[in-house]
Amino acid sequence: MLDNARRLLQTYFGYDSFREGQETIIKNVLNSHSSLCVMPTGGGKSLCYQIPSLMLDGTTIVISPLISLMKDQVDTLVQAGISATFINSTLTAEEVRETMEEVQNGQYRLLYIAPERLESQSFLNQLKRVQVPLIAVDEAHCISQWGHDFRPSYRAIHRLKDIFEVEPTVLALTATATPEVRADICRLLQIKEDSTVITGFARTNLTFSVVLGQDKNKFLKDFIKKNAQEVGIIYAATRKTVDQLYDLLNKAGVRTAKYHAGLPEAFRNKEQERFLTDEAQVMVATNAFGMGIDKSNVRYVIHYQLPKNMESYYQEAGRAGRDGLPSECVVLYASQDVQTQRFLIDQALDRERIPGELEKLQGMVDYCHTENCLQQFIVTYFGEPDAKECGRCANCTDEREVQDVTKEVQMVLSCVVRMGQKFGKTITAQVLTGSQNKKVVEFGFTKLSTYGILKNQSLKEVSGLMEFMISEGILLVNHGSLPTIYVSDKGKEVLLGKRQVMRKGVAVTKQIAKSDP
Ligand code: ADP
Repeated sequence: MLDNARRLLQTYFGYDSFREGQETIIKNVLNSHSSLCVMPTGGGKSLCYQIPSLMLDGTTIVISPLISLMKDQVDTLVQAGISATFINSTLTAEEVRETMEEVQNGQYRLLYIAPERLESQSFLNQLKRVQVPLIAVDEAHCISQWGHDFRPSYRAIHRLKDIFEVEPTVLALTATATPEVRADICRLLQIKEDSTVITGFARTNLTFSVVLGQDKNKFLKDFIKKNAQEVGIIYAATRKTVDQLYDLLNKAGVRTAKYHAGLPEAFRNKEQERFLTDEAQVMVATNAFGMGIDKSNVRYVIHYQLPKNMESYYQEAGRAGRDGLPSECVVLYASQDVQTQRFLIDQALDRERIPGELEKLQGMVDYCHTENCLQQFIVTYFGEPDAKECGRCANCTDEREVQDVTKEVQMVLSCVVRMGQKFGKTITAQVLTGSQNKKVVEFGFTKLSTYGILKNQSLKEVSGLMEFMISEGILLVNHGSLPTIYVSDKGKEVLLGKRQVMRKGVAVTKQIAKSDP
């Protein structure tokens, strides 16, 4: 069976071998096991249903929300000699009727449709007469309210499944893989959760690092100078920061372009063009830049400010090194940037989505404070099991000695407990360092036995230690209107002396020198 699949891969697509994961998915599908395929963008999801469509009797239906891409996808398949067509709102009623007739005659291996079609009963009635062995649900996260792009019409997919005499196999595909979204997809499409295949999130040519506690502007200028022959992207969280960095870098003699949604379209396009043609060496942008941009020689992506979650981060950072050559992805971390993101989340979203988004933001903060392999942290976040250490990232190559910090960690935990586990990180750090802050005094925290217990350390150091504890899951954050911290089960074990805590080197202590431009 797989030999045949491999032959088709070679004949129609010209590739010699399957990528990791593709073979497993194809085998599942050919054995009629409905499955969920989670691979990053560009990972090669399409082949997972295109190859089976050539081996199964009947017409495979592909549901995709990307109407603007459908025609291209179909044209590419037709060029490769595979009979495929599409039905969406760009066709006239007459064209739809003709296409449907051809579909009913069994003329196509693949039929792409927009999800909205499924809401029409007459359309479903017409499909009834077609032999459909496989339904591929592209961008399957659109079915989940927890996904970043919920589309109510995706909920109609289960109606489609039920209209055929022989129930088709379902293959859901997505690049978004938080556990909630995955569970939702499986539940709504009746896929067994253990039929999920997650692979390919590691990008072996990328080197990840997080820079804490440095003058960001100096870092940027030095980095760009050191990489003067290379092109890169710098992402900032706000338009204002983009404008400021643009001025800063241009003044420093760096050929810089800028891009954000507040700029006139003509200007934006011109700037994009300057970057694509290497006329500008650096693109400074908000997250508005990058969708659909295919520039292969981006050697670095620097996040001047923390992005809002791991999904955005990996998508943006992943624009580095598309050509497979070694490239760098750097996050410049400062705790005030977490506040900026909290503010942006608070402004932009419906009330009920805020706690979930804050939790995702915490994932990003954890990434910045973990001492484990950064690539491993990322792929584990995306649900890939058994990820190995990359051996390249800033943490893998960090040679500072590991120290036992169990005692300090116990002091923090004990303080959190004494404060009733109802307060935030900042005030806890103030209590630990013996601050005379008004709030500390008013709450009577100066009387706690843990007051000033870490007064030999700076507020920044203690905050850093607490961030580390959160990233290790020793402390947990409750994302209410004001975030509060509490002790996890793992933390309780530390408190009881049942678990040791090791940390690399000393916390970064340098105060961030005036960093905003
Ligand atoms: P996705 O849908 O996951 O974003 P695509 O299916 O569009 O990704 O595939 C991305 C690119 O990788 C395409 O150019 C595709 O032809 C190529 N590709 C897919 N599978 C293989 C393979 N086994 N060997 C080589 N190239 C592949």
